Amino acid sequence: MTPACVFRVALDTPLKRLFDYLGPASGLFAAPITAGMRVRVPFGRQQLVGIVMEVATSTDVPGEKLKPILDVLDAEPVLDASALALLQWAADYYHHPIGEVLSTALPKAMRSGAPAQAREEQWSVTAQGVAAHAVGEPRRAPKQRELLGYLVVAADAGVAAARPADAPAPAGLDSATAADASEAASYAHAGAGGSPVAGRRLTDATRTMLDAPSVRGVSATTLDGAFPKWRETARALAERGWVTSAEVSLADGESRFGVKVQGPELRDEQRAAVEAVGESLGHFGAFVLHGVTGSGKTEVYLRLVERVLQQGRRALVLVPEIGLTPQLVGRFRDRFDTPMAVLHSALTDNERLTAWRGAFSGHARIILGTRSAVFAPVPDLGIVIVDEEHDASFKQHEGGFRYSARDLAVVRAQRADVPILLGSATPALESLQNVAGGRYVRLSMPYRAARAELPRMALIDLRANAEHSGISTPAIQAMQRHLNEDGQVLVFLNRRGYAPTLLCTACGWIAPCQECDARLTVHLSASRLRCHHCGFDTKLPERCLVCGFAVKPVGQGTERIEETLTGFFPGVTLARLDRDVVRRRGDMEEVVRRMSSGEARILVGTQMVTKGHDFPNVTLVVVLNADQGLFSSDFRAPERLAQTIVQVAGRAGRGTRPGEVLIQTEFPGHPLLLSLLSEGYDGFARAALEERQQAAWPPFSRLAAVRDSAKTAEQALEFLAEARKTAGKLPRGVKLLGPVPAAMSKKAGRYHAQLLVEGADRASLHHFLQAWLPVVEQLPSARKVRWALDVDPIELF
Ligand SMILES: [Zn+2]
Ligand SMILES: [Zn+2]
Repeated sequence: MTPACVFRVALDTPLKRLFDYLGPASGLFAAPITAGMRVRVPFGRQQLVGIVMEVATSTDVPGEKLKPILDVLDAEPVLDASALALLQWAADYYHHPIGEVLSTALPKAMRSGAPAQAREEQWSVTAQGVAAHAVGEPRRAPKQRELLGYLVVAADAGVAAARPADAPAPAGLDSATAADASEAASYAHAGAGGSPVAGRRLTDATRTMLDAPSVRGVSATTLDGAFPKWRETARALAERGWVTSAEVSLADGESRFGVKVQGPELRDEQRAAVEAVGESLGHFGAFVLHGVTGSGKTEVYLRLVERVLQQGRRALVLVPEIGLTPQLVGRFRDRFDTPMAVLHSALTDNERLTAWRGAFSGHARIILGTRSAVFAPVPDLGIVIVDEEHDASFKQHEGGFRYSARDLAVVRAQRADVPILLGSATPALESLQNVAGGRYVRLSMPYRAARAELPRMALIDLRANAEHSGISTPAIQAMQRHLNEDGQVLVFLNRRGYAPTLLCTACGWIAPCQECDARLTVHLSASRLRCHHCGFDTKLPERCLVCGFAVKPVGQGTERIEETLTGFFPGVTLARLDRDVVRRRGDMEEVVRRMSSGEARILVGTQMVTKGHDFPNVTLVVVLNADQGLFSSDFRAPERLAQTIVQVAGRAGRGTRPGEVLIQTEFPGHPLLLSLLSEGYDGFARAALEERQQAAWPPFSRLAAVRDSAKTAEQALEFLAEARKTAGKLPRGVKLLGPVPAAMSKKAGRYHAQLLVEGADRASLHHFLQAWLPVVEQLPSARKVRWALDVDPIELF
């Protein structure tokens, strides 16, 4: 028997296939089921929510085994054709089950069946109600009279467009709940004061809701806040025919857009960048905006987003970490009077759903978010912007589905036929190679805004200069000089804690982590020993656990550098910025505030200081240890080091005074440091790309890593060795490297290993993986380990 219609459904299972179902029992659903809709289906003994990927007319599944769809959850697709195409592309490229890829793209609530569009119960006044209110009815029911009056005021507010809101936009998103809260507050005020309009402040979202003729009512949630036990009263009024209620969809594609403040005059190179991308609006083009720190990249983003929004289209902006880019989010809010949806990992499930709905309905015109926002629904997408495109955070490198949001953003822009702008002061070598190959266009902004000059960089030879707890004499002298001249100083060290090692001076015992191949880090002020890899945390011992002799912390962390500097510069206020200091929301802002106000003169920090913040009065940056990145077995380590140095150097001299950057190293003759110093990031990138080409590392080859972990080191290696064996004779252009134990083999109690697959190009790598992975998945040893494939890994063991 051939069924008329078969629906191929993606389900969140580890199986790399779709599942066929029949349509639901006839007559239940009038609308046709199309690709992109959610359905509830039987799966074994459970019921799962899945996405219809295809509608087919035939199936290999025998007729008696085909089951019908139980329920259709959407009247229209929640994923349009381009979204489905992107997800399918991602599943193929990363060799990952489509069902799991889809579950990355949809908020949890959507995956368990929440409606795609927010609906709410709203109450509004009828024409008779307005007339009754005008003559003071109902005279004998004060509660009814009050509620009726309240609803009349609400209806008035919908007609007379309110002034722009002074109230800040709700944190995170223009959610219906946030709008409700402020709506309630404003109405409560109006109700109590008796004056219907005075003192009322409406947020953008509220205003939009009220502007639409269908939503001139007041939500039940708002009424809950304004009138305890209002329902009884409302029912009485409804019986008189004076008020009415309805279930209203909050979706509103016609949200407003305005520019709150005009941007500053563009400099020539900014204008050139805006024009170049602007000409590409309406079709695909990939642009690398290579602008030094302080060159005004954000202004270029803002102008392009403005153009796109003016055309009635929408913008997708990706940022590496939301907590570290508050300034960027703030700049968008300050410039535009339009709803934004902000998506990031710190949202609750409900907040995420609200933000997603805001994007899906088209209400939000700007969708800004971290990694997984690349999958956000954006109707009428007009441009994609990836800020700090070199940042490693764009790559998901844990869990099952390991994807690069930056790379997927390019694919998405291509599918949508819109331009993509990849901005950075230190573009990834891959992106620069795409420029060299003519696939991307580079837009250069080598100068800083008004008067600010790029800082001078110099090396300090640690072998030739005395050191005081990790800080050399020339560095101390330079700091003194800059402080005397009223400058601020930034000291960078990529290691938090007090000291990386606790050593017994008698027997040589070093405090180890029991779960990892790592030393425990001393956190002196907290009096703890902590593992930075697995989170192990214990009391700091006073004596050696082996011989009982005194122990001492060895090496430097930010906490100790802070202490050392306090000794050198008594009376000078210091601030520190690292993960130990920034624990709660607002901690980072507090450190930034102390620096900006000039209260703190010296800032000691980790990688965190390199991102997103301007300290205009910082005139000196000291990089305490550049050497970690110079001799790593990971071919990307030099690139990361150069990016870090340039980014941290970019914090210096952003005001009117020139900055100075000092880099401490034991290897002042290292070619990487020399090329970086003499020719800047461009020179470094050229040299590094040449090196990669000679060694045939990406982007001159393609990599995929099979990584696993097991309870024993042998098991971890055994699976990968077997996997290698099944590959047999390798096709041309494909190499297998390993398996090898990870550099830190034991981590969090498990043993890690890796097998690297290298393809001469993308096609040869993926052809090989396609044939090989199904065999690997069937290996009995695969069940004894946890393993995952990482295509285009950004970190190698
Ligand atoms: Zn000892
Ligand atoms: Zn550990």
